[in-house]
Amino acid sequence: MDIWNLYISILVFVFGTVIGSFLNVCIYRIPEKMSVVTPRSRCGNCGTTLTGKDLVPILSWLFLKGRCRHCGIKIASRYLWVELTQGLLFLSVYHVHGFALKTPLLWILTAFLTVVFFIDFDHQRIPNKLVLTGLLLGLIPATLHVFHKETLYPSAAWFEPVLGVLIPFLLMLSLAIGGQLVFRKDVLGMGDVKVFAPIGLFLGWQLSLATIWLSYVLGGIFGLFWIMVMKKDKNAMISFGPFIAIATYLVGIFSEKVLDFIL
Ligand SMILES: [Zn+2]
Repeated sequence: MDIWNLYISILVFVFGTVIGSFLNVCIYRIPEKMSVVTPRSRCGNCGTTLTGKDLVPILSWLFLKGRCRHCGIKIASRYLWVELTQGLLFLSVYHVHGFALKTPLLWILTAFLTVVFFIDFDHQRIPNKLVLTGLLLGLIPATLHVFHKETLYPSAAWFEPVLGVLIPFLLMLSLAIGGQLVFRKDVLGMGDVKVFAPIGLFLGWQLSLATIWLSYVLGGIFGLFWIMVMKKDKNAMISFGPFIAIATYLVGIFSEKVLDFIL
């Protein structure tokens, strides 16, 4: 790896951790129906407003050994992991796609997915506000497509974004309704259905269908592991959102290979 590439990689990683720091705020505040912009971040214990040196991604947490500078209460290591993960997600996208328009599009998508992953993991739901935010962000690739810029859609047809929103969403909706009729209980949360509208807007419908398939494969493998190895209750509810997030990331980043395979 030459110096230039190393330098860009470090910049990309740091940029990812800064975004990760903001995503921590989103993950905490969106389910509480709080603004993600104001007020500024405070310590949950002593209420002191955090300043620049408390908010440097990763480094602040490490230097303060995961404690509040003012009152010393422990700060969850989750904050560190989200920043680190987002840095690595950004880096992985850059390494696969380099200086292409797909790179920033996939960065936006991974940021959205990180929030979906953790909010669904914590609360077993995907808030409407989050789905709506995803749809607004998804207008970026849809608009680029209109201007014939390269996106993740497999064809240049103008209606690709429309199909992207509708087909995966309607398939998930029918799976949810079908499951409800057959098993007489909710097999899919409405959040899991709705989140495929923004995902479809980013990936287009073909890749989104691959994502649905992979979500079930990953969820199924985890479910078996959960019941057979961990000996957990098979009726326990496991959030599906995290599997959707991982599947979307994998299909998105390897979009070309996945499309080659499908088409
Ligand atoms: Zn404090």
